[in-house]
Amino acid sequence: MYKRFLNEYGRQYWWPADTSFEVMIGAVMTQNTSWKNVVKAISRLKSCGKLSPVNVDKMTLDELSEIIRPCGYHRNKAQTIKNLVYFLKLYNYNLNQMKQLSISSLRKELLNIKGIGPETADSILLYAFEIPIFVVDSYTRRIFSRIGILAGTEKYSRIQKLFHSLPKSTHLYKEYHALIVKHAKERCKKKPVCSTCCINDLCRKLGVETPFEADEAKKSQL
Ligand code: SF4
Repeated sequence: MYKRFLNEYGRQYWWPADTSFEVMIGAVMTQNTSWKNVVKAISRLKSCGKLSPVNVDKMTLDELSEIIRPCGYHRNKAQTIKNLVYFLKLYNYNLNQMKQLSISSLRKELLNIKGIGPETADSILLYAFEIPIFVVDSYTRRIFSRIGILAGTEKYSRIQKLFHSLPKSTHLYKEYHALIVKHAKERCKKKPVCSTCCINDLCRKLGVETPFEADEAKKSQL
């Protein structure tokens, strides 16, 4: 599937950011919103010269929250970014110093930051720290449940373990996750475009609702 996606969409060169800090706050802000809203929020931080951990640390929560307003849930996300910056400050904003920790300790530390869940923590580890950890998101669940590899309701760690059976490669994990997102946006949408899908010969969906989709439909009715 990776090869098919790569052939279809080409390299994605993720994460689109100039610095590791930009990756980290992008990973926080992208939750429950579209990427174009994150881009707007990051541009606002850039244009007022505040896109660095030191400058974010100096800002009040209200100031930060106002600047990142376009990303949605801005108050909560501003608080999470503040919590993240507090953590980075403990290590003098030095990523190499943090990388001295074992991967599991660093992951645990990130998960201890209020507002950061597994997907955000792993995005930070993979794309900012360049550590080979696979990022699982709802697109991964959707595609892999539709093709029949997952039920889609498995725990995050169970799905991640499946991808960790691939060769441990930062490059591979970065590209594969990005390609999964691309495929979910281009073809395997909520209403999939199966006729032109590059893996339709591998897929068992063919109009059958998966447990993951049934679960999503139930949630949307609540
Ligand atoms: S065939 Fe359809 S449901 Fe299956 S992966 Fe492709 S777009 Fe998704």
